[in-house]
Amino acid sequence: MDVHTKISALKGIGEKTEKIFQKAGIYTVGDLIQYFPRGYDVYEEPVAISELEEGRTMTVTGAIYGRVQVGGNPKMQITTLYLKDITGTLKVVWFRMPFLRSTLSKGGVITLRGRIIRKKDGLVMEHPEIFYPSSRYAEKQDSLQPIYPLTTGMTNSAVIKAVHQVLDTADAGDGVLPEELEERYRLISYPQAIRGIHFPEKKEEFYRARERLVFEEFLVFILSIRMMKGNEDRMLNQYCFREQPELDSFLQHLPFDLTNAQKRTWRDIRHDMTGVHVMSRLVQGDVGSGKTIVALIAMIFAGLNGYQAAMMAPTEVLARQHYENIRTMLETYHVPLTAEILTGSMSAGQKRAAYGRIASGEVQIVVGTHALIQEKAVYKNLALVVTDEQHRFGVRQRENLAEKGQHPHILVMSATPIPRTLAIILYGDLDISVMDELPKNRLPIKNCVVDTGYRNTAYQFMKKQIQEGRQCYVICPMIEESESLEAENVTGYTESLREVMGEGIEVCCLHGKMKQSQKDEIMDAFSKNEIQILVSTTVIEVGIDVPNSTVMLIENAERFGLAQLHQLRGRVGRGKYQSYCIFMSASKSKETKERLDILSHSNDGFFIAGEDLRLRGPGDLFGIRQSGLLDFRLGDVFQDSKILQCAGEAAGKLLEDDPGLAKDVHQPLKHALDRMISEVMLEKTL
Ligand code: ADP
Ligand code: MG
Repeated sequence: MDVHTKISALKGIGEKTEKIFQKAGIYTVGDLIQYFPRGYDVYEEPVAISELEEGRTMTVTGAIYGRVQVGGNPKMQITTLYLKDITGTLKVVWFRMPFLRSTLSKGGVITLRGRIIRKKDGLVMEHPEIFYPSSRYAEKQDSLQPIYPLTTGMTNSAVIKAVHQVLDTADAGDGVLPEELEERYRLISYPQAIRGIHFPEKKEEFYRARERLVFEEFLVFILSIRMMKGNEDRMLNQYCFREQPELDSFLQHLPFDLTNAQKRTWRDIRHDMTGVHVMSRLVQGDVGSGKTIVALIAMIFAGLNGYQAAMMAPTEVLARQHYENIRTMLETYHVPLTAEILTGSMSAGQKRAAYGRIASGEVQIVVGTHALIQEKAVYKNLALVVTDEQHRFGVRQRENLAEKGQHPHILVMSATPIPRTLAIILYGDLDISVMDELPKNRLPIKNCVVDTGYRNTAYQFMKKQIQEGRQCYVICPMIEESESLEAENVTGYTESLREVMGEGIEVCCLHGKMKQSQKDEIMDAFSKNEIQILVSTTVIEVGIDVPNSTVMLIENAERFGLAQLHQLRGRVGRGKYQSYCIFMSASKSKETKERLDILSHSNDGFFIAGEDLRLRGPGDLFGIRQSGLLDFRLGDVFQDSKILQCAGEAAGKLLEDDPGLAKDVHQPLKHALDRMISEVMLEKTL
């Protein structure tokens, strides 16, 4: 018997059971070996009757007390027994098992394991497993019993039996890890791991088994990503950068001190730009950590050195904001450079003029949206490309813009807090700077999750904040079906809010359907505090920066993912004032409340993304479409980040040593990779 043998060859698996197993994807012995438990039942030490707790599955040992009775009706016969120990008496019931009476009537000491529930007359153990004589429990105690995922008709005990049979008689194979890796990372062998994952005798055995299998899973994943990306050598840096006194002066005159994280990141960037190879760097920092200024410093550095720098933003609103921000800074601090904006909504004439200035080198700093990457933009000497909020762009777009220059330096800014180890793997070609520090003047945002009954109180609170000179955002109910409905919705909401707020408070709305010029006008007015409340759809999700805003009210918060809510919330708490985020939910469900509560207890994007990932799956968090690519059978990129890191390291060494994995010892691994890669290619995800 080997992994290819059909399961019908197993004892006890007839045609009917085979069909049922096939529905769960189990066709062969190999499939069965890979059918891992979803959890384990632990047979814990028996407790005294007085220590039983409602709602738990527990074990007790005691003497059978009095007569065993069978009652109920013919359809539902109930066997009742009383069990006694020195601490008390427990009622125990079984359903539809009248035959138990004759066995149990012998009396004596017995061990029972079952769920404890509360009934009118006290705690009752329902339908327990019987260990009689009670010494039989000792054999099972502390062991872990696998609980398998089941489909209709399948029983846990049937799977257990089949797997037992297979492990006792068939050859499970050797897995794909070269022996050398097993040794280096002190991993147990594949057959041991397979036995340990199905039938661990102790918890420790389960951990070791899982560790081995997760390592293997991660390794195959990482190697296939590396193989798909190809191992291009990094380009040489052909740009010549010198220190620029004007940049130092700019830094000295900034109205704030850079955080240590910002300084460190800028040092990394400068080091790259003046190094031997071109830069490929990812700057990862939570919302509000101050990524823009770091990018701007790098762009000015390029400009002062006689080159051009381009920054690509995911939305026009954000591009416009960056542009205004940069222009003001250049002017205020007398930096002798000129900035240009380039967005899709500009008229043909405007674009042509901008293209001209870009081609001639009249402008050194270009900010824009996707239009930037369109063919017509020809740069004179592009040396640096920055993409802001990377998760909004596909990998392709990043490459497109990079091709505009002669292999310019690449800087990618991302607020997506993925684990560093995972980032290294996903963006295998990028170095990483982490900005894990918020500017000093920030107060943590105060959060609350409320129901719609709180809306008026929230409005009054906003009014008060506005009287103190602050501004507010309201994120309006999202309507997914249609953009025009969404627009209508925001407009309607704005009108009624305007009435509530009364004279003297300017309420305006912003949504995706508006003309760009209109959006720009509104954003501009909002940033000058000519508008106090901005009612908006999620268009303001990324990047918008108006530090005077202190309240964000999110309607229908239950419809958003946690990571997205965290991004939205990042629009407040960006200045020196105390800020507030009100998550308003129309849902009464307990789960929704719990999910939103994660946000109100944490302002840490990294933690939240982890929770979001756990609750919703990776989704589009990484710009990789829901691909199943991060859907591991056993591994969890957060929980197992140590293993992920080891597997990453191992993958690097392997490829260094044997780039095509052509050696004999690497054949099983190579096959696993080929399988994985062809699956991914099929899904056309990368
Ligand atoms: P993000 O990292 O989310 O892109 P931004 O770069 O937009 O954040 O910065 C958020 C706000 O913090 C901006 O108003 C910016 O001027 C301000 N800021 C940036 N760095 C500092 C600092 N070191 N000290 C104080 N404020 C800062
Ligand atoms: Mg930003």
